[in-house]
Amino acid sequence: MKPLGPIPHGFETVNGQLAVAGQTAEMLVKRAGDTPLFVYSSAIIADRVDSLRKAMPERLRIHYAVKANPYPDILKVMAGLVDGFDIASAGELEQALAAGQRAACISFAGPGKRDRELRAAILAGVTLNCESEQEVRRALMIGEAENIAPRLAIRVNPDFELRGSGMKMGGGPKPFGLDAERVPALARDILAAGVEWRGLHIFTGSQALDAGAISETQGKVLSLASQLTEEIGVALPHLNMGGGFGIPYFRGDTPLDIGRIGNSLEDQFGKLPDNLAETEFSIELGRYLVGEAGVYLTRVIDRKVSHGMTYLITDGGLHHQLAASGNFGTVVRRNYPAAIASRFDSDAVEEVSIVGCLCTPLDRLADQAMLPRADVGDLVAIFCAGAYGATASPSAFLGQGPAREILV
Ligand SMILES: *Cc1c(COP(=O)(O)O)cnc(C)c1O
Repeated sequence: MKPLGPIPHGFETVNGQLAVAGQTAEMLVKRAGDTPLFVYSSAIIADRVDSLRKAMPERLRIHYAVKANPYPDILKVMAGLVDGFDIASAGELEQALAAGQRAACISFAGPGKRDRELRAAILAGVTLNCESEQEVRRALMIGEAENIAPRLAIRVNPDFELRGSGMKMGGGPKPFGLDAERVPALARDILAAGVEWRGLHIFTGSQALDAGAISETQGKVLSLASQLTEEIGVALPHLNMGGGFGIPYFRGDTPLDIGRIGNSLEDQFGKLPDNLAETEFSIELGRYLVGEAGVYLTRVIDRKVSHGMTYLITDGGLHHQLAASGNFGTVVRRNYPAAIASRFDSDAVEEVSIVGCLCTPLDRLADQAMLPRADVGDLVAIFCAGAYGATASPSAFLGQGPAREILV
């Protein structure tokens, strides 16, 4: 037997079934037309943003990292809840603008921005978080050709990283950002070009559950920003402090203590150096805002036993939920939270493995899990499906096609 991760708060039981916003899993599948289906809860998202705002200093702006989940209805809800979007491609730019987000509240990071992407962002008035000297030069040329002053920030590759972070994106050689010691010279070039200087972006990692580690890193980000600003010689207009707030996926993971992070940040904001006194601060979060608000529903299409192990074979799989299968940046596969959605209040009585319909042994949704007895026709729920699900999985693999999605 292997443990399942903790089921996030906010889901309900109606008539014995898993329900979201009062609607049972079967009702939701009927509404959407078929399984597999991602269901996202706008109430859970709104609650999350609300409690985060209450915990963080008022001065801190909260941005949503669109790559976590660009589903149009989620972007529309988010546009009304957060202070800005962070995007990583011209495709996400279109999605962000279509959702009603104002260009002035969008920043665009990502290595390898093509000229046409830079042009689209400059024309729209989006801030570019530039990742190299080359990219700044291309942005300035495009701005000149279009007769628009680009809004430019620099993404810094810091010499430290977020401790305990699930995905390391700072410290040592990296394709992201510009090594810190080269930042002041490039910032002075931007200022000399007479375009709009938008400040610094310092992202240090993802999926951290240790509040102490996040606060410590935020302290380092503030002091690096101050040190670079000293060398640049003009007050810093804006600092994107990164994010890294994680969610519990696995048994033993504990939710992040955001109260502690907020208090520490309030303290740090209380003793800012002069050159950051007027700076506008933001954090950029993806999975923390939406990850726990989504559940993936897939139907059992076969039940079989092989050498004593019972398999529930579903119509979904890693082509929609690569992360739950353990193949999206994890070293050791562990079970996401899972349940039999159509028997949500039944007792766990048997050990089963839930697999997808793909012809690969990688396609596992839950391994040797204790669950209520389920048969062909039952619905399986995989939780923590609100981020890095539908668009972070190889939906074309084996011709199965995309899942349906619905926001309720
Ligand atoms: C992926 C990414 C994020 C979002 O990460 P989460 O772990 O989903 O919060 C934020 N900023 C940058 C620069 C990223 O690459």
